[in-house]
Amino acid sequence: MARAFGCARVVFNDAVRAREDARKAQRPFPKIGELSTRLITEAKRTVERSWLGEVSAVVLQQSLRDVETAYRNFFASLKGTRKGPRTGPPRFKSRKDKRQSIRFTANARWSVTEKGRLNLPKIGAVKVKWSRTLPTTPSSVTVVKDAAGRFFASFVIDTDPAADATRMPDTDRTIGIDLGLTHFAVLSDGTKIDSPRFLRRAEKKLKKAQRELSRKQKGSRNREKARRKVARAHAKVTDARHEFHHQLSTRLISENQGIAVEDLSVAGLARTRLAKSVHDAGWASFVNMLEYKAERYGRTLVKIGRFEPTSQTCSTCGVKDGPKPLNVREWTCAACGSVHDRDHNAAINVKTAAGLAVSACGAPVRPGAIPAQREETGSHGLLTQARAA
Ligand SMILES: [Zn+2]
Repeated sequence: MARAFGCARVVFNDAVRAREDARKAQRPFPKIGELSTRLITEAKRTVERSWLGEVSAVVLQQSLRDVETAYRNFFASLKGTRKGPRTGPPRFKSRKDKRQSIRFTANARWSVTEKGRLNLPKIGAVKVKWSRTLPTTPSSVTVVKDAAGRFFASFVIDTDPAADATRMPDTDRTIGIDLGLTHFAVLSDGTKIDSPRFLRRAEKKLKKAQRELSRKQKGSRNREKARRKVARAHAKVTDARHEFHHQLSTRLISENQGIAVEDLSVAGLARTRLAKSVHDAGWASFVNMLEYKAERYGRTLVKIGRFEPTSQTCSTCGVKDGPKPLNVREWTCAACGSVHDRDHNAAINVKTAAGLAVSACGAPVRPGAIPAQREETGSHGLLTQARAA
């Protein structure tokens, strides 16, 4: 496996170098076919790169594709046709990179054996601890090595729209979500959701490991041991948080046809002193899950602008009551006298602003805001993950 990761990295770097050389010489960029011949087929015959023949050629081909994609994203970002933050040109990969991956497509002749092992070309049958069963035959598998030295296999499978519809039948319920700091989320029906005990326990363990690390002498063997312990604890927290986000987002999508959430610009908020809690809470990843699950299961997700004063407006009479400092958890509306829990009131306002609720005067704010979105045909790629034992 290490050899395959290494070879994929070398081909990736050779391709980046070839493109950089062409750019400096003001020559056109070499095509992927040309790179494949030069950096894989011909390189295998040289003394310096003969070991490329020891790994699956598909892994190397996929490396070249990754370079192509990275450059395409970079140029699209330069032109402004790509959404999201600016991406830089591809960088050379290092043996010390935290996350490494190799990809096997269908034509790589990989398979899952009868005994449930993952049979990879030129690697062999790898023992796998399955996190779930594969619903259909996957089209490709990516093997990832994370910072804690753990191996994962991610499979791309096609989803089945009919099975999805059975799993999540249409409902007429709608909900607004306020993502808070005192609770992970507060719903417009008054439910307050905190991170589960398994996540809090993992976070506690990480803090303890970090404290232990800070007490170890620099350069000592014990420090190296402590550093590895922190990396493992960190990975556990990440996994637990991911799991919690999955459970909660699936539940919300399953129970509601329309979901309203604040469109928090995490990048913007991250510059303030709330930064740490924002990143820890992982809102962006949670909203992202809601987004793709809504699309898959025919739900409507409405993101409302982050400039809506959800915490200042009375959800009963609609009067703006003025800014409220973060420590104000409960307030009374000066106009109508309603007593509000800060987060619950905000969640109701999120729902109203998204057009998923009726306004104070009884008229729907945005009629017909919940169209059926379920796709009758076609399929989405879906990742399912298994931990390599
Ligand atoms: Zn009021």
